[in-house]
Amino acid sequence: MMYNDINFETYLKNYPDKEGFFGKYGGCYVSPELKQAMMEISEAYFTICKSRKFIAELRRIRKEFQGRPTPISHLERLSSKLGNVQLYVKREDLNHSGAHKLNHCMGEALLAKYMGKKMVIAETGAGQHGVALATAAAYFGLECDIYMGAVDIKKQAPNVARMKILGANVIEVTEGLQTLKEAVDAAFAAYAKEYKDAIYCIGSVLGPHPFPLMVRDFQHVVGEEARAQFIEMTGELPDAIVACVGGGSNAMGFFSGFLNDPVDIYGIEPLGRGTKLGDHAASLQYGTEGIMHGFNSIMLKDENGEPAPVYSVASGLDYPSSGPEHAFLHEIGRVKYDVINDEDAIDAFFTLSRMEGIIPAIESSHAVAYGMKLAKEMGTGSVLINLSGRGDKDMDYVLENFGLR
Ligand SMILES: *Cc1c(COP(=O)(O)O)cnc(C)c1O
Repeated sequence: MMYNDINFETYLKNYPDKEGFFGKYGGCYVSPELKQAMMEISEAYFTICKSRKFIAELRRIRKEFQGRPTPISHLERLSSKLGNVQLYVKREDLNHSGAHKLNHCMGEALLAKYMGKKMVIAETGAGQHGVALATAAAYFGLECDIYMGAVDIKKQAPNVARMKILGANVIEVTEGLQTLKEAVDAAFAAYAKEYKDAIYCIGSVLGPHPFPLMVRDFQHVVGEEARAQFIEMTGELPDAIVACVGGGSNAMGFFSGFLNDPVDIYGIEPLGRGTKLGDHAASLQYGTEGIMHGFNSIMLKDENGEPAPVYSVASGLDYPSSGPEHAFLHEIGRVKYDVINDEDAIDAFFTLSRMEGIIPAIESSHAVAYGMKLAKEMGTGSVLINLSGRGDKDMDYVLENFGLR
């Protein structure tokens, strides 16, 4: 399929280019020593990802350890309540450890093993990426250093406990505001020292090349499975698909299965409390071009051009930029990006729980809310939503802050 002069039949092979660019977005803007490390990872990945042994091992792990393929569920009661449009969800909440993140963490850790590394390093904010990586590291017997701001460590006690039980070292970062940004800086600094023995595992389709490409490849299984399953279930493609976008990994994996199809694609960013800078994390909606954390994309900046403070009720979505590939798909118009605020996400959280017996992550609730909105607007047809994770981690927070609805 051609779209704005881009051939989507060959798109996944041609984008990003060799330097890691999707149009003008992406690249590898890091210090010379980190650039060296990124090139080493890049070369290893391009060789290893074609090896039959690597592919077979990843397939086996997905089936026997992660529990893939995850199913698609038809939301019959919710669909009937809303009208004639049929809603479906791809159940990444049923992936081992409760979200899509393990898909790329298992890939990254398996790559570390093939490269002969002994350790994986990462930062974590809310702790979800840390838990997924600690799970992968335990599986492969790799050491795991997770950098986390002191403020986040206090806020996210259950995830800190999980990481420690899984054998990871949680390293407290006490610089600056003691949250995600400082954790990223500390983890990069540690990696620059230890890159001979370690690999940095980025938590989304973000960071310098080759990470946006690698993480998309490892998440592609979601879109590939979903497309085949949906056709098997219904005999046709969905009319529209929806996913939430923080950094953009669950969305990119899901979308990549459908880019060459006549399917409307929607990426949903968090509008938080409103449109004022600092009240949301809708970077593609309100941001401008800029470089941060090693890549060029669309980002929310403060008056000094630094990454702006962001907010969302979903801690997995509050990042001041999105992956470079989303900036590109936004620019060419292949994917439509829209927003859902806290209130509507919380409503969707309860609606899906009550009507279908599925408690979604608050991140995923943004996609569910938009799917419900689309269903009312479309009148007929079908919508497939990526349910990126389960909501167990959010239950206490929702009850405390929003009460039972
Ligand atoms: C981390 C997380 C997200 C956001 O990350 P993306 O890279 O945008 O997918 C979404 N949903 C869940 C359940 C998460 O844990």
